[in-house]
Amino acid sequence: MSKLDRRTFGNLLGRGTAAAALLGGIPLACAMSGKKDHSKKLGVALVGLGGYSTYQLAPALEDTEHCYLAGIVTGTPAKESVWARKYNIPQESIYNYENFDTIAKNKNIDIVYVVLPNSMHAEFSIRAAKAGKHVICEKPMAISVEECDAIIAACKQANVKLGMGYRLHSEPYTKEVKRFVREKTFGELKEISADAAYVSRGNPDQWRLNRALSGGGALMNMGVYAIQSIIYGSGMNPVAVTAQEYSTRPEYFKDTDETITAQLELPTGVRAEIMTSHNKRANRLYASCENGWFELDPASTYIPLAGRTSKGPLTFPQESQQKLQMDDFARHILKGTTNVAPGEMGKRDMIIVEAIYRSIAEGNKRIDLDLGTMGIVN
Ligand code: NAD
Repeated sequence: MSKLDRRTFGNLLGRGTAAAALLGGIPLACAMSGKKDHSKKLGVALVGLGGYSTYQLAPALEDTEHCYLAGIVTGTPAKESVWARKYNIPQESIYNYENFDTIAKNKNIDIVYVVLPNSMHAEFSIRAAKAGKHVICEKPMAISVEECDAIIAACKQANVKLGMGYRLHSEPYTKEVKRFVREKTFGELKEISADAAYVSRGNPDQWRLNRALSGGGALMNMGVYAIQSIIYGSGMNPVAVTAQEYSTRPEYFKDTDETITAQLELPTGVRAEIMTSHNKRANRLYASCENGWFELDPASTYIPLAGRTSKGPLTFPQESQQKLQMDDFARHILKGTTNVAPGEMGKRDMIIVEAIYRSIAEGNKRIDLDLGTMGIVN
């Protein structure tokens, strides 16, 4: 601490409560020790310390207003001390997959955030609910509708909140699209399409290409974004789907789908088009309406999204989507605000995913859906 800083602190200390006000409400003990004051925040435990937790969620939790990183659950002992040091996590808030259930006794953990391969989401979300913790479950919610039902039931029974890791519902460009739809800014929807794809070139043994761990390929991973785009871009759930699949690198995509196209019939008769792939580059939502159009491109990357409409470009300040998402969920718990991405939304998307796979398996058959307004949150 510099001399000037010390003097300033000395003066502040002498002035008691005025000092606390000057420090933005941060208790002096915290301000002086350099530790953050977490007393009014919800503690989050991340389960699975892979790429998404390491590079997106943990850094975002440094900036969240209503929650903070309070614990970790990992199957890799070497990560424990690294994370403990970096994020100031006490030993008693570090768990592995076996002793995870003892998290029930940890008063500092309010929310368990499941960031594991898809086939493990149901098990850990249910164990978290049984431990009495609120749950955030990454996308896709699980690898079957049956598993989604089990997660929802476990959270209901334990009386804990359940949110999906659908960060876009807290993101300003997406929220603007939802506003266009709600207010019919461009009139009745005439045409809508969404693509979500990237080229996978990594290790062919990665879990995303292993059906047992991922539940499926591009559709499970990126397809969920395309489905979501159609729904919030139209404000409607589809009433039927027809789908097609093809592969141009079958030697790499041995176990999971590479490219899928699908037509989602909306209740107004509009036929929405989606494309998802692990072997193409695309990330776009486009909607044409009777009085204009809107577009997001990219529509589902982390940052920055970009958008334009027939009236001109869209411009919003960039903030971590994960920060916005986790604060929205914490506010839902603390203040009873809307759960912008509830479990029901994750289940609805899994119903559509299963219908698309079924359409393909049954020779591109049209599959009826009966979703009503399930999972639509505006
Ligand atoms: P990753 O491969 O980087 O990390 C997976 C983690 O799970 C690793 O820490 C690994 O050690 C652990 N793990 C435990 N058991 C495993 C097993 N049997 N096989 C493989 N890994 C195992 O994956 P990720 O990118 O962090 O994705 C994790 C989850 O987060 C997925 O469900 C993914 O869909 C989701 N995700 C969401 C977003 C988003 O924008 N919302 C972005 C990336 C990932």
